Amino acid sequence: MIKKRILLLSLVLFGTGYTQLALAQLDTLQRVVAGRTNSTAQLKKPYVILISADGFRWDYAKKYKAQNLLKLSDQGVAAESMLPSFPASTHANHYTLVSGLYPSHSGIVGNDFYDANRKEKFKPRDGSWFGEEPLWVTAEKQSLLTASFYFIDTQAPIKGIKPTYSYLPNPAKEIFVKDRVIAIKKWLALPEDKRPHFIACYFPNTDHAGHQFGPESAEVEQAVQFVDDAVGQMVAAAKESGLPVNFIFVSDHGMTPVDNKHPLTIPVSIDQSKFVTVSQGNYVCVHAKDPADIIPMYEKLKADNTPGYNVVLKKDLPANIHFGPADDKYNRIGDIMLMAKYPQVFNASPKPNPGAHGFSAYELKDVHATFFAWGPAFKSHLQIKPFENVEVYDVMTQILGIKGLPNDGKGTLAKEILK
Ligand SMILES: [Zn+2]
Repeated sequence: MIKKRILLLSLVLFGTGYTQLALAQLDTLQRVVAGRTNSTAQLKKPYVILISADGFRWDYAKKYKAQNLLKLSDQGVAAESMLPSFPASTHANHYTLVSGLYPSHSGIVGNDFYDANRKEKFKPRDGSWFGEEPLWVTAEKQSLLTASFYFIDTQAPIKGIKPTYSYLPNPAKEIFVKDRVIAIKKWLALPEDKRPHFIACYFPNTDHAGHQFGPESAEVEQAVQFVDDAVGQMVAAAKESGLPVNFIFVSDHGMTPVDNKHPLTIPVSIDQSKFVTVSQGNYVCVHAKDPADIIPMYEKLKADNTPGYNVVLKKDLPANIHFGPADDKYNRIGDIMLMAKYPQVFNASPKPNPGAHGFSAYELKDVHATFFAWGPAFKSHLQIKPFENVEVYDVMTQILGIKGLPNDGKGTLAKEILK
């Protein structure tokens, strides 16, 4: 009751009640690592704001008339599409964007996966699962400050390091687009030794709507408009700062309609005492506890000849998805893979959605992602062909002027789009 009164009082006292409350709330949710500053060499470096809109398919901006994104990408760089790495899922591709590594090389091979060395399933809040360094850790090690507003996998310290500024998940889920804009304004207004040069933001809206209602829905259109409006506000906030801010707008993957009326099931013939199975929707990883069981199980599954999916040994997966035994650095890809034949998907709880992703970008354009970039570091009015998302990392390290780590990118995108 008292709490309610205070809330009411603050609403009355401040004409812009929402903003005041949001600020107070934001301050309690923000985590700041004390004692960090930009080194003198980093003070005059440019700024990069990386905005990721989950599941924002390559064609959404045009299809749903995202006015801000269309205008800004026309002024800067617009890719026809960007190929997500395999699997076209959220954790895997966010990590690829900030490391330049294919998921098999970063070890973040999906949203759910099993590590055959550790003998346990992925826990995204546990930093020990991340064997490779993301951009924010590399930047912080070089005394260039970073910030995250809910960017995927910034919750756990990786190699003991978190972004200098980050936000805890809000249990009340009352964090609105305005909060991200306020946070960006506040970060860019900090004294230069405390000001983050790399800011990563995340929006889940388009992915949620796409899964639940399918990519061709009014709900996805609304989500696209929501994200577009947020981008407009962020750009205005950055402009106000007068700083050389570069924006990169990306998604992790696209979205495609799937057959959710006839979901596939994991075959009962797989003995759960001898194998671990993990479903990703578009495939199931089957890990053998004893390698001697792989071939007999594979032959049995092949003989079942079940329509709806292909049974494939890890070594026989297509080379262009970089998911074979030589790529599987952390031993996290199944020995046997059950690959759903699009548009079919494996069952999910409580039931499969009408929209999904995960499939190979070389087989399905619907899973392609969005890439737009604008700001002083980028060429103007440039339209480019589709490219692999391992290339984005080098673009960011070059703008920030930091030494990036070896990765799977070839540096072609940076050459093409940077001034
Ligand atoms: Zn998704």
